This record gives sequence, C-alpha cells and structure tokens, in this order.
Amino acid sequence: MMQIFIPLNFLGFVYREMKGALANIEKMFSILDVKPAIEDVPSAANLDVQQGGIEFRDVHFGYGADREILKGVSFRVAPREKVAIVGASGAGKSTLFKLLFRFYDVTGGSILVDGQDVREVSQDSLRGAIGVVPQDTVLFNQSIHENVRYGRVDASDEDVADAIRHAQLDDFIRQLPEGANTVVGERGLKLSGGEKQRVAIARAILKHPPIMVFDEATSSLDSHSEQGILRALQEISQEQTTLVIAHRLSTVVDADQILVMDQGRVVEQGNHRQLIEADGHYAALWRMQQQERAREQGAESVTSSP
Ligand code: ATP
Repeated sequence: MMQIFIPLNFLGFVYREMKGALANIEKMFSILDVKPAIEDVPSAANLDVQQGGIEFRDVHFGYGADREILKGVSFRVAPREKVAIVGASGAGKSTLFKLLFRFYDVTGGSILVDGQDVREVSQDSLRGAIGVVPQDTVLFNQSIHENVRYGRVDASDEDVADAIRHAQLDDFIRQLPEGANTVVGERGLKLSGGEKQRVAIARAILKHPPIMVFDEATSSLDSHSEQGILRALQEISQEQTTLVIAHRLSTVVDADQILVMDQGRVVEQGNHRQLIEADGHYAALWRMQQQERAREQGAESVTSSP
C-alpha cells in the first residue's frame, strides 16, 4: 500500500507544481482577467518550423471592441534575426507577444510563422516552438539545477549543466556552497532579478525552441548582471530567431532590427545606426536614455566616492 501511495503522492506534487507553473505563465501575460476561448480549428496541423521566420501582416487588435490597441502593425523577422522592440509604456509591445502565442486572435490582418497562419496550426505546436523569458521568472523552491530542468524535463544532467554555462550562471554558481544544487528559496527569493532571468534563459536554452521571446527586466541591474544577460542573449540569438522587448541600450545597439512602437503602430524600423541617422523617435529615446545613464553613473560615482 505504502509503495503505491508514495508515487501517487509524488505525482500529485508534480501535477500541482506544473499546474502552478502554467497558471503563472498565464498570469505573466495577464490573461486571467479576460480569457476568450481560443480553440484549434478542427483540422489544425502541427506548426512546421524549418527556419523560424515571423511575419505580422497589417495586424489590428483590441482587447475590447471599444479600443483598438494595435492599428495595422506590419513587420518581418528573418530566421535567426535578433529584433528589439522599443517604445513607451502602453505602446503595445507585450500585446505583440500575446498575439504571436495566440492567447488572443487578431481582429484584422494575420500573423505567420514560417508562412503558416498561427490560427491554422495547433496551439500546442505553436507554443512548443516558442521559448519565453519573462520579466519576472517563476522559480520553484528547488535547486537551480532542477529549476533549469523544467525547460526540458527529460534532459540529461550534462545538458542541464551546459545550459547553465551558456546562460552565464557559472560564476554565480561557483560562489554557492552547494553549487547548482543550492535550493533557491520560496519563489526564488534568494536570487537577484538578474540571476532569476538567467535561470529563465538557461531553461530556454535547454528547451532550444526555434523562436525565443524575451521580455527584458526593467528593474535596474548591476553592470555584471547586465553583461551576463547580454552575453547569454547573444548565445541564444546566434541560432534562434529572437524577439526582445528591450529596455537597455546594450541590447538594442547590436540588434539586427529595431522596431519602434508608438500608440499601436510601428513608427520606425531599422538598425541602430540607421535610426540614429533618421533622427526621429528612436534618436530622441536614445538621447534621453543616454542622459539618464550619465545621471545614474554620476550618482553612483558620488555615492562611491570617499
Ligand atoms: P509596457 O512597456 O508598460 O509593458 P507595452 O508597450 O508592452 O507596455 P501592452 O502591455 O501591450 O503595452 O499594452 C498596450 C495597451 O493595452 C495598454 O493601454 C494596456 O492598458 C492595454 N492592455 C494590456 N493588456 C490588457 C488586457 N488584458 N485587457 C485590456 N487592456 C489591456
């Protein structure tokens, strides 16, 4: 009896943990408030991703009928490109991600992944092809190693260790008495924001999806964490199509393409050099951030001076 009880109890635990993870992913996209029933079409094929190209074609969308949030958004992301999305709060950046995942259906236009309309393919296959690094990662009160393993539960220990290394978590882990076996604490409270985001990157590296979406944390990071995340992101974006909602200059500057969003439209598009030359929205945003950074550095040197 006992022998049956223990595995069942354990399965119950795993089920609750996974259910919790899914609930948190939904929460991350704030879809619990209004959750329209999105269903697969009866003959939904599995998404076939050969390249990982994405296209938004004149996409219109509103959460309710009274307010249009995206007002005709069009752009293409070539396979393995790294695209940064920037723009003021409320411009519609996260909404682009929610539509790519098909948490909602567009009200006009279409979204294609490798030429396939996201409404025509099964949601499981669509979500399986996209890895997410959210701003605030949900961690379980388990070891770092186990937390990373959620990226692919059947991964070998070597693969998990590899992902940890590629996510630039090695230096941090070396300082911990129990290394990757250190338990992170309830909801990952023992880790800083930057460390948690690198655990999420390690999970995504382990999952190795052809498309990655990354919502860069807005909270300020020390420059060591920022560099770690940047290097990890560079690793990912070499092989995978990467979309980043970017808040940091360092992420934006090396992107293949930057989409500047304003009030539900892409108002500028190009790489950093092109957009600085264009001297429009992006150049203004850039100057503002440069000044902010100079102020922060000034404040830091004042605080650290004797
Ligand atoms: P931020 O940089 O602050 O995250 P964002 O550019 O990502 O902003 P979105 O989160 O896409 O902006 O939001 C665009 C608009 O849609 C905002 O005005 C927001 O209030 C609205 N919005 C977002 N989610 C919902 C929702 N679930 N229901 C209704 N309106 C929403």
